[in-house]
Amino acid sequence: MSREQARQVLERAHRVAVATHITPDADAISSLIGLTQLLRRLGREAEPFCDDDLPSRLRAIPHTEEISRVARGSFDLLVSLDASDPARLGQAFAEVEGVPLLNVDHHVTNTRFGAVNWVDPSAVATAEMVLWLVDDLGVPLDRELASILLAGIVGDTVGLRTPNVTPQVMREVIRLMEAGASLPALVDVLFNRRSFAAIRLFGQAVAGVQLEDGVIWAVITREMRHASGLGPASDLSLSSFLISAEEARIAVVFTERDDGKVEVSMRARPGYDVACIALAFGGGGHPPAAGCLVPGPLEEVIPPILSALKAAAQDGRADPFG
Ligand code: AMP
Ligand code: MN
Ligand code: MN
Repeated sequence: MSREQARQVLERAHRVAVATHITPDADAISSLIGLTQLLRRLGREAEPFCDDDLPSRLRAIPHTEEISRVARGSFDLLVSLDASDPARLGQAFAEVEGVPLLNVDHHVTNTRFGAVNWVDPSAVATAEMVLWLVDDLGVPLDRELASILLAGIVGDTVGLRTPNVTPQVMREVIRLMEAGASLPALVDVLFNRRSFAAIRLFGQAVAGVQLEDGVIWAVITREMRHASGLGPASDLSLSSFLISAEEARIAVVFTERDDGKVEVSMRARPGYDVACIALAFGGGGHPPAAGCLVPGPLEEVIPPILSALKAAAQDGRADPFG
């Protein structure tokens, strides 16, 4: 049982480097800080790493100022959180060699790249798995730790609204709230913060939206991003908005980066699966929300991904009540 193995590995460790994925989301930072704090409460040395900039709203999570980009020094355990493959860690662990890696994740597409792998796609968030570790390791929940972990659960469930939110998850949310975490405050920080520039760029991208064969898509070029003045660490959540189109079963947003690579963000209605498409193009994710980073240029990237998504939009269950 890998949950038990994960507990044992963490109990035996003394100096732990913990890392999460690039282009971090709330679950990435929540599980990163949550596990770091858990280990410190157990008297271990633990350092958090993320080889990327953080979107400003995630700076509201306590202790994010302690995050460094690349681990250097001596560690006896590396932990990867919320990352489905090693490339998602960037260079975070590139300068430590010969140290065993514990891989803790909830992506169905996880490639099991650790010495010990605890991968549980039934978890709504990696932060939920860290909460299970809190219990397994007998650490009491205080207000700060509860708030840190609730951020990841609320983030990956889009405010407790995804189909994987079970009564058990709600009971965990209640426990975290009883320990002092504020659900409305986290919802406000995670979903109600956009810069004016982001809203203008969002509007421009929506103006160019297209729909074909059940797939709705939008493109954000480098020029559009530069004209808006938005920094690279900004996430528009545009794909989550586009999937609300009644005529669409799959939504996708192509964002051109400064290095010419293209970030692809996909969403599917219940009964349709974009994780397998993301995996086929070198990325990963969950059936309803997945992504990949592909070499450009935009005009070469878009047609093959669109045709794979159009096929997936035919495959799924057409009637969600059927
Ligand atoms: P996003 O569309 O960026 O919100 O990401 C949706 C889901 O896809 C998240 O679970 C991400 O972890 C996953 N994902 C996004 N981009 C990648 C990538 N380049 N490689 C692997 N998984 C990704
Ligand atoms: Mn994540
Ligand atoms: Mn996650």
